[in-house]
Amino acid sequence: RSPAYIDLIEPYRAGKPISELAREKGLDPDSILKLASNENPLGAPASALEGAKKAASRLSLYPDGNAYELKSAVAKRFGVPIDWVVVGNGSDELMGITCEALVEPGTKTLFSQYYFSVYRIDTLANGGEPVEIPARGFDIDLDAIADAVDDKVRVIFLTTPNNPTGRILTGAQMEKFMERVPSSVIVVLDEAYRDFVPPEQRFDSIAMVKRYPNLMVTRTFSKAYGLAGLRAGFGIAQPELVAFLNRIRPPFNCNAIAQAAAAACLNDDAFLERVYKMNREGVRQLQERFAALGLEFVPSLSNFVLVKIGPKAPELNQWLLDRGIIIRPCASFGLPEWIRVSVGTGPQNERFLSALAEFLAGA
Ligand code: PMP
Repeated sequence: RSPAYIDLIEPYRAGKPISELAREKGLDPDSILKLASNENPLGAPASALEGAKKAASRLSLYPDGNAYELKSAVAKRFGVPIDWVVVGNGSDELMGITCEALVEPGTKTLFSQYYFSVYRIDTLANGGEPVEIPARGFDIDLDAIADAVDDKVRVIFLTTPNNPTGRILTGAQMEKFMERVPSSVIVVLDEAYRDFVPPEQRFDSIAMVKRYPNLMVTRTFSKAYGLAGLRAGFGIAQPELVAFLNRIRPPFNCNAIAQAAAAACLNDDAFLERVYKMNREGVRQLQERFAALGLEFVPSLSNFVLVKIGPKAPELNQWLLDRGIIIRPCASFGLPEWIRVSVGTGPQNERFLSALAEFLAGA
């Protein structure tokens, strides 16, 4: 394999870690507000910590390489057999495994403009050609993606709600799309942010998996479940595809504490409900203030909001960092005048909004 592929890759740029900013600015880490990586401001649920504690007493043992407890819990919750579930070290690992299994030189992957950068990295890492399809406004243009399918395309990545736009796909759109895509092309439907979508706007993507053997839905414990630091995610697809991916999945990819914590909180609907409510309230708080400040934003159905600052966006980013606030600049999404801010608790959102208003007043 030629290292030339690797030279094409821009490394993944995550939100600046709190520890890094604390070192740079000589700040107390506890004083730093990070609204950059769409993490859960309520922290991890107590149910997950209970599960983690039990697993922590057995750390000399390998994890269950088959993740039986976690996969059975997932299978039960979503009404599929256990061999329809594949676990990942975070859901991003499943994108990597999918590309490793299917992408090679001379093949392509498709995804929309304004995408999660891992799709591109995983494609290039396997010598494939990532093809970015222009969005329609801020919406994924499913017709344009379907039009772009040729016999070189192996994988299509779709994201709902999408990061960084917070826009969703509907069930009817997905259905129409799946009817158009040949069954030889694997469609990964990345639903990392699904739990933030108002229930009446969700569609039953798992039911769709039952009808399309080339569809895999991915979900994560990193967002609504508050376990980003543990790294646990899963995919649901028909057993042929799951078995295919399992051939190259690293045997102990999902660690013992992650498996136990994830299984312990999977059905913690009371926690999910608290997270959902607080998030919708926070989205409203942010969007109302953006409107009052005369800022353009993309109405969000996720746990972050994309807002247009203008040419001073990089300056605002620095101004916020100086005040211990980390947000996500959007130049790497091709949106240099925009920022993406994750939804925090009410007081956290207020701290960010006050700093933003102060910047705009002085700018
Ligand atoms: N998909 C999207 C769209 C994301 O934004 C993220 C995290 N930023 C992920 C997947 C991956 O999440 P994880 O690997 O933590 O499950």
